[in-house]
Amino acid sequence: MTSIIKILSDHVINKIAAGEVVERPASVVKELIENSIDAGATEIFIDIEEAGRRLIRITDNGSGMSKEDARTAFMRHATSKIADDADLESIRTMGFRGEALSSIASVSHVRLVSAMKDATSGALIEIEGGIVKAISEAAAPQGTTLEIGHLFYNTPARRKFLKSPATEFSHILTTVSRQVMAHPAIRFRLTHNKKSVLDFPPSLSIKERVFQLSGGAIAEDLIEFSGGRDSVHVHGLIGRPGSTRADKTYQDFFVNRRAVKNPSLTHALYSAYGDMLMRDRHPVAFIFIEIDPALVDVNVHPAKAEVRFRNQSQLHDLVRDVIREALRGMNASSATTHADGIREAVSDYLQSAECGVRNAEWRNTTSRSAAVGQNREMEFSPFPVSDAFHSELRTPNSALLHPLAQIHDSFIIAQSREGMAIIDQHAAHERVLFEKLQNQYGAGRVPVQDLLVPDQVELGPAQSVVLAAYLPELSKLGFLVEDFGNNTFVIKAVPVLLVGADYKQLLLDILDEVNIHGKSGKMEKVRDEMLSVMACHPAIKVHRHLDQQEMEQLLADLFKCRMPHTCPHGRPTVVRFSMAEIMRMFKRI
Ligand code: ADP
Ligand code: MG
Repeated sequence: MTSIIKILSDHVINKIAAGEVVERPASVVKELIENSIDAGATEIFIDIEEAGRRLIRITDNGSGMSKEDARTAFMRHATSKIADDADLESIRTMGFRGEALSSIASVSHVRLVSAMKDATSGALIEIEGGIVKAISEAAAPQGTTLEIGHLFYNTPARRKFLKSPATEFSHILTTVSRQVMAHPAIRFRLTHNKKSVLDFPPSLSIKERVFQLSGGAIAEDLIEFSGGRDSVHVHGLIGRPGSTRADKTYQDFFVNRRAVKNPSLTHALYSAYGDMLMRDRHPVAFIFIEIDPALVDVNVHPAKAEVRFRNQSQLHDLVRDVIREALRGMNASSATTHADGIREAVSDYLQSAECGVRNAEWRNTTSRSAAVGQNREMEFSPFPVSDAFHSELRTPNSALLHPLAQIHDSFIIAQSREGMAIIDQHAAHERVLFEKLQNQYGAGRVPVQDLLVPDQVELGPAQSVVLAAYLPELSKLGFLVEDFGNNTFVIKAVPVLLVGADYKQLLLDILDEVNIHGKSGKMEKVRDEMLSVMACHPAIKVHRHLDQQEMEQLLADLFKCRMPHTCPHGRPTVVRFSMAEIMRMFKRI
């Protein structure tokens, strides 16, 4: 009998580990920064070329390594951070698995220069695909420099799966930003293709870093909070309920300064906001939990991106309560923002009208799947009527709608040839603007209006990079935004159709769409989402009185559209009732 089971070689094992630990250039950056932090560095310089494909260089002024240790560090399961299994119970360092360097070295070319304090000389090591090519002494200042080149050169599948340089760099920037936020005492500098992207001197507070990283436009709506119990301290910054976003780009959780994902913590955040949050809206939140390491298990994910808590449900409740308290305090102490005011007005209206429409004003109340059709229509049905009473969307003769009245300054009641119709004025106007913008874009000339006083928007470094990549596309859409450097953008001109909107909010909302859809690489989809956000802003809101002529104009415009029956987000614009249905409701037939 021959045996077919073999023990894999270290080389293969490292490559397998690399598959988990080194998903993309950003993972290398994360692991190396963590090592520098663990080495006690007070300065970490990160230089990236070609989004990490060409070069990732991390230089720190930490403890450095001896020549012997520098050699050992690249071996599998080599770590100075834990010694036995008891240590696993209480991890106080960022690393502990001893597999980052060996994994990285197995799929790239690595050059390391390191020197310890007061050492007479430092060490230099060169490794290619896990094989040591050179090792010698070298003069070096205290600290460590690691250069990673030819990443994934021997794993073509991984290399092929890398996204565009813009996307890969945005992952790197997100990774770096999280570390920058969590370690205010460390100076961080990041360059890309030799251009400075961020450079933060040591700062005393997380707050300062959060403000710098999220940018003025987001930071102005943040409030600081802090609280805790026993050995747990929860603190950070959260956004006002009136300034939520369409995705979770501005949400980060840190446990003992390690960025993590944890469904229970996310749940705690959302339940703290409770019904202050509209459907499909997400709070801005940077949440830090400082907890006895013995109460956290960080050994549940190869890239240490997840954690488990010993007392999950107590922690959940604590986080929820601390945030809830902060939100309450904020409502009591500060005047409500403009957005809060609108939200309150709308929800008051919806309650008093006792209708099932979630909110005609807020564009993101529907799911992004934008399922159009009967179900969706039912969900927004203004009357609690059964399926049978629901007419289908009928296309012919739509123009024969004759507006009779407006109810609650929000919906138009119209007579149709076959019965009656209710039109959501905001949704209808959104559709009209959307198609107008689309047509103008299609014809290659969107009429624009220069702003006399250009609007200035300050973003964080990560969002600046994302926006900068979309400026040419935005300008084709008639939205002329200039990059002023230093993460500052200036809105110079807007499409004529958008004149009068809140351009700064509009830009942030457009950025949300890019965050959500940009990674798909489908420009057409991103463009349509941008257009639908643009259409939403100036569209006639609920609570706006329309006279007879305006109602007629709106309906006429609506039925000139290619797809008059839904708004760009997929909600219905018109709900129709046939005479037969009305008669059935009144038990006449
Ligand atoms: P881990 O961080 O889990 O210990 P790594 O493979 O990331 O494993 O690193 C292996 C070892 O190399 C570390 O335990 C540490 O002793 C040493 N090391 C790595 N990077 C640095 C650095 N920048 N400065 C000093 N020592 C380092
Ligand atoms: Mg490590």
